[in-house]
Amino acid sequence: MTRLTVLSGPSGVGKGTVVRKVRELYPHVWVSVSCTTRMPRPGEREGREYRFVTREKFHEMAQAGELLEFAEFAGNLYGTPRAPVEARLAAGEPTLLEIDLQGARQVRAAMPDAQLVFLAPPSWDELERRLSGRGTEPTAAVEARLAQARVELAAADEFDAVVVNDDVDSAAAALVALIDEVCE
Ligand code: 5GP
Repeated sequence: MTRLTVLSGPSGVGKGTVVRKVRELYPHVWVSVSCTTRMPRPGEREGREYRFVTREKFHEMAQAGELLEFAEFAGNLYGTPRAPVEARLAAGEPTLLEIDLQGARQVRAAMPDAQLVFLAPPSWDELERRLSGRGTEPTAAVEARLAQARVELAAADEFDAVVVNDDVDSAAAALVALIDEVCE
């Protein structure tokens, strides 16, 4: 069966932007649509970026074993519907998940042959700059996020490959090369 590829990495590193580029330029790659309990952001459409569900529905799906993995992130639940991923892999299609680190570890346990790709920032300074935002937030909140990012960066060792996000087009191309490599 075709191997699944999972893109993960520290928050703030730009996973969403790289995956948007993959959708735009490499339509042969199927990108899983997660379920989430968070509210849609402006411009997001039901079924495209996410399936937006209630917490009750999310728990039902988790209990029925319909999620390949799930995690709580910043107070909201996120999970990958299992059936569409399995169907695409069985059909031999290049398949990509974009999920947080907790989810990536669950996929590693459930599907040991999945390819885990870590998206890394060009440098620590760059990540710090992105996470610090516009300087309008209380220092404690920024400090907490930076501490979390330090822990998340250390997770790179658990991954099969690292792609550095210094330029979104090159990062997307490098990611797709890795995906295609395991789908030949
Ligand atoms: P956002 O709310 O900004 O779209 O996503 C927040 C975080 O949730 C990101 O790190 C994203 O990678 C992660 N995420 C999105 N979908 C899933 C999922 O299905 N499972 C897990 N574990 N994380 C997800």
